Amino acid sequence: MIPVSEPRITEREREYVLDCLQTGWISSAGRYIEAFETQWAAYCGMKHGVAVCNGTVALSAAVVCLGLEPGDEVIMPTFTIISCALAVVENGGIPVLVDSDPETWTMDVNQVEAKITPRTRAIMPVHIYGHPVDMQPIWEIARAHNLVIIEDAAEAHGAEYKGQRCGSLGDVSCFSFYANKIISTGEGGMVLTQEEDMAERLRSERNLAFQRDRRFYHTALGHNYRMTNIQAAIGLAQFERIEEHIEHKRWMAEAYNERLREFPQLQLPIEKEWAKNVYWMYGVVLADDVPFNAAEFARRLYQKGVETRPFFLGMHEQPVFRERELFIGECYPVSENLSRMGLYLPSGLTLTESQLGKVCQQVHSIFKTI
Ligand SMILES: *Cc1c(COP(=O)(O)O)cnc(C)c1O
Repeated sequence: MIPVSEPRITEREREYVLDCLQTGWISSAGRYIEAFETQWAAYCGMKHGVAVCNGTVALSAAVVCLGLEPGDEVIMPTFTIISCALAVVENGGIPVLVDSDPETWTMDVNQVEAKITPRTRAIMPVHIYGHPVDMQPIWEIARAHNLVIIEDAAEAHGAEYKGQRCGSLGDVSCFSFYANKIISTGEGGMVLTQEEDMAERLRSERNLAFQRDRRFYHTALGHNYRMTNIQAAIGLAQFERIEEHIEHKRWMAEAYNERLREFPQLQLPIEKEWAKNVYWMYGVVLADDVPFNAAEFARRLYQKGVETRPFFLGMHEQPVFRERELFIGECYPVSENLSRMGLYLPSGLTLTESQLGKVCQQVHSIFKTI
């Protein structure tokens, strides 16, 4: 079976983790945390990094800092992971959705303005599968309406918008370092910001809102969102190879593109002229005239030894939100089509050229018969 994604671990990770074990710094203090925060923030062009235990809570911590009042709204794409909507809902806010751009699969920025109300507080652009959102219109709308931009860059480590790295395109940005992300800590995440007071609030939110001078005296409710030094040690080792990881993803995309271009049955990922796509996952979308959907395509590929993953299902189609009477009657045709016709092919950092060739052969053998 060719796996859909695998992390790449080397001697360097072993060496740094062993150092944590030998020195006893296994919990959430230690030099790897600081080094990883400082270096990742600097790489992304932001002043402060606050490491947390996963990308989902990174988004939550960022939303907490908005100080939402019940009923305040945050605009986001429907086509994303549930973490985005969860972060808003659990903080008393209401996610307000827009559809996707059919080419880049990121939020359709032309739909944002029409969704603004007096309750809108923030916009949450999400760079999908490694391709950045078209930020210029978002910047203009945010400035005009005094909105905060929370950037979800969990799929876009090292990606660029007009030469500027993802993670530096909003007021605050969130990353995940889950096992399948471009750099990983196993489980992990980080929030980046330019503002020292925002960083302080994030650190407090991460650490149970303990106070510096009176530790067990609380004026706020925080969480335990801490990352361990061991995770940060893995992250730092991964970070030292980030350019290699990105090169591998870009090689993979080029190699897939070359071999799959001949199939009119498939829409392939693109790279806008203003973007550097890091192709976190290599997604394909079946054309309308293909007589089966992505679930059936996935089943056939699996039978031939190729693992795949389905695309996201839009937030407006989630039973859990319908139950809460969110998004009733809303429909987003681009997202709905992506969910039914899209999947991603094996895209891991260990994928070899011969594996990639086999995947394409199997795709070929499926399309030959239709
Ligand atoms: C992976 C991911 C997250 C969540 O990260 P976890 O570390 O898995 O909690 C959030 N947003 C996007 C876009 C992601 O891909």
